[in-house]
Amino acid sequence: MAVPFSDRVWSEIETIDPADARRIQDERLQQQVAYLAARSALYREKFAAHGVDPARVRTVEDLADLPFTEKHELRESLASTPPLGAHLAADRSEVVQVQASSGTTGSPSYVGLTPSDIQQWCEMGARALYANGFRPGDWMLHALGMSKGFVGGLPVVQIAQYMGIVDIPVGAEAGADRLLRVLADQRPDILIGTPYFLAYLAEQTPEVLGAAASTFGVRALSVGGEPGGGLPAVRDKLQGLWGATSREMLGGTDFGVMYWGECEAQDGMHFHSPDLLVAEIIDPETGEVLAPTDGAEGELVYTALGRQASPLLRFRSRDNVVVTGTDCACGRTGYKIRCVGRTDDMLIVRGINLFPSAVKQLVSEFVPVTTGEMRIRADFEGHTTQKPLHVVVEAADDLDEAGRAALVAGVEGRVRSALNVKVTVELLPAFSLKRPDHVKVQLVERV
Ligand SMILES: [Zn+2]
Repeated sequence: MAVPFSDRVWSEIETIDPADARRIQDERLQQQVAYLAARSALYREKFAAHGVDPARVRTVEDLADLPFTEKHELRESLASTPPLGAHLAADRSEVVQVQASSGTTGSPSYVGLTPSDIQQWCEMGARALYANGFRPGDWMLHALGMSKGFVGGLPVVQIAQYMGIVDIPVGAEAGADRLLRVLADQRPDILIGTPYFLAYLAEQTPEVLGAAASTFGVRALSVGGEPGGGLPAVRDKLQGLWGATSREMLGGTDFGVMYWGECEAQDGMHFHSPDLLVAEIIDPETGEVLAPTDGAEGELVYTALGRQASPLLRFRSRDNVVVTGTDCACGRTGYKIRCVGRTDDMLIVRGINLFPSAVKQLVSEFVPVTTGEMRIRADFEGHTTQKPLHVVVEAADDLDEAGRAALVAGVEGRVRSALNVKVTVELLPAFSLKRPDHVKVQLVERV
């Protein structure tokens, strides 16, 4: 079990001078590239194919000349060289754990871990959860999915134990009733789950337990696994329902569980592991590296540092983010981001890129005349349409005709002015859309 550096940050590295952070990154990057060249068949081949001399990669800036690693390459690597692919860079006997990713295209992806890799995952996760307000000694109700080998399950338990947090591993699959019974019996201090599922849990609490969620003494929520937890409307709703703080975290499967965590300023998630990871932001169209300055927007690309079993170099995450700040009153020196959506989810409406989560955010502004729930009903194949988007929005039950007309016009106008996209809004009764069962809300419904 590890201990926090101070009452403000889990690790000293989170408040390091950016120039020192860069020096550590450069040094560890050189070691990692040398390790890849020596131990990873996938990267040996990639370096040869792209004429990369590993010895010439000296700094993080040098990464820009190296090829990306795409998800499909990992799938092919796993298929051609089971069980952990040609990118397995540790001896098989050193691997002590395998996790699976959900895989947006169906077939799962697998990641191997050595004891050192597990320690790294725990350290990164601890920094994120500590920023989110979780503390050693807390009791945590675990409402992320526990099954299928996903990183929201066992690895989160490992992170909690590393931090000295008591994990109650019930899991989202158990369903709202069961989770709420455990809440009433065990009185956890903290909850972890996807934002929309934790909101749903709170909405079910009066019916299941006969009292509001805010009466059960929960102090802090950590939300992630889908975009939305950082939207002011979603956060306000969660904080109001639970009477607790709600902060966001972000991560994945290929590099760990969580490697971004929102602090008490609640205006974006800090990058806090310069010693364990390089995060680049690129223009997803051109691949050009963008400086992480305020307002910069692009796709996250990661390079692992010090990783042994399944290390990746310049891996395209498909997570699109916007930089929300470069300094912070909390003392952390890593820049802050908000995830605006997945490149995979992006729609192109008359040539304009649109993330469904951005529409959801705008609809959320109209609460309480809407519940905030919406879906895009896509009557086209793929991602591109020339027609206005059909958006269904739940209206409040007590809304009169004039109110309904105002809501339709309001959402249509807001989306048009904010996103430059024409939508046609249809209202549905409150609570008629399917609520999240336990994983993620699909904002686009194919019709
Ligand atoms: Zn901060």
